[in-house]
Parts: sequence; C-alpha cells; structure tokens
Amino acid sequence: MKRAIFPGTFDPFTIGHYSIVQRGLCFFDEIVIGIGHNQSKKTLFTIEKRLDIIRQSFKDEKRIKIQSYNSLTVDFALLVDAAFVLRGLRSVGDFEYERTIADSNRKLTGVETVILFTESQYSYISSTVARDLISYGKDISSFLPPNVIL
Ligand code: ADP
Repeated sequence: MKRAIFPGTFDPFTIGHYSIVQRGLCFFDEIVIGIGHNQSKKTLFTIEKRLDIIRQSFKDEKRIKIQSYNSLTVDFALLVDAAFVLRGLRSVGDFEYERTIADSNRKLTGVETVILFTESQYSYISSTVARDLISYGKDISSFLPPNVIL
C-alpha cells in the first residue's frame, strides 16, 4: 500500500490544495491529509472548521483520510505509516522552502517528498489571500473546492 501524507495549515483548504490531492491519487493508494495544529500559531479558522471544510471536499472519496497533528511533520508521516510527503509548488518562492524541508525529512527518516506543480489556473490561489478577502467581507467561494460551504 503506497501511502502519502499531505501536510499543511489549510487555513483554509483551497481549490489549489484540492487539485494537488486529487492528482496525487493517481500515484498513491491512500492520502492522509494532515492538518498541522500548533497552539502558538494563530489561525483564522478553528481546527474543527478546517477539518469540516476538508471533509466536505472529499465526501465520497474512501482513499482520503483526514487527521490533525501537532508534532513534527515527518513524525506524523511515520505515525500513520506513510513513506511519502505530498506537496504542491506554485512558484520559485515556494521552491527553496520545499527543497530544504524535503532534504531534511529524507535525511532524518528516509521519507521521500513528491512535489506536484500547481495547475496554472490555481497558481494565484493561496490561503493567505483567501483570509485577506474574508477580512474585507468578500466571498471566497471561487477559492474553495467544489461543493464546500463555509
Ligand atoms: P504550509 O503552512 O505547510 O505551507 P499550506 O496550507 O499553506 O501549508 O500549504 C500546504 C501545501 O499546499 C504546500 O505544499 C503548498 O505549497 C501547497 N499549496 C498551497 N496553495 C497551492 C496552490 N494554489 N496550488 C498548489 N499547491 C498549493
């Protein structure tokens, strides 16, 4: 069984995240979406709401599991018996950060990182912009996966 985790803060989970997970299902038998949960990191959405949005996104998909975690990401991968970390890449801005983390995860535990480029129509989508729009009272439904109601 090829299992990957897809870790992130997901504040909130967007259509960009959704697309990476859907495409990741071509490579993995199961993907565990791991919501990083750090008490000291302030988020707009509660952990319950972030879980709810992701559950709504993958209602009928048996190969997707959803969990929160508050450990090192690579320890979460070992905990759920995943040999891979799935990540998405939008820009050169993401690249250096992802490479550093991927290298250290491989060195620490042998867990490999698989990176998919974003679909170009989602390259501008980010949780940060979604939160900014919310703070100005704007509708963010076009940033969210299909069928998600906030
Ligand atoms: P983190 O706090 O770990 O960066 P995020 O929730 O911001 O968590 O993102 C999780 C993963 O999803 C990261 O690999 C990020 O690059 C990727 N990602 C975020 N937005 C998009 C997008 N629009 N298209 C593709 N990948 C994305």
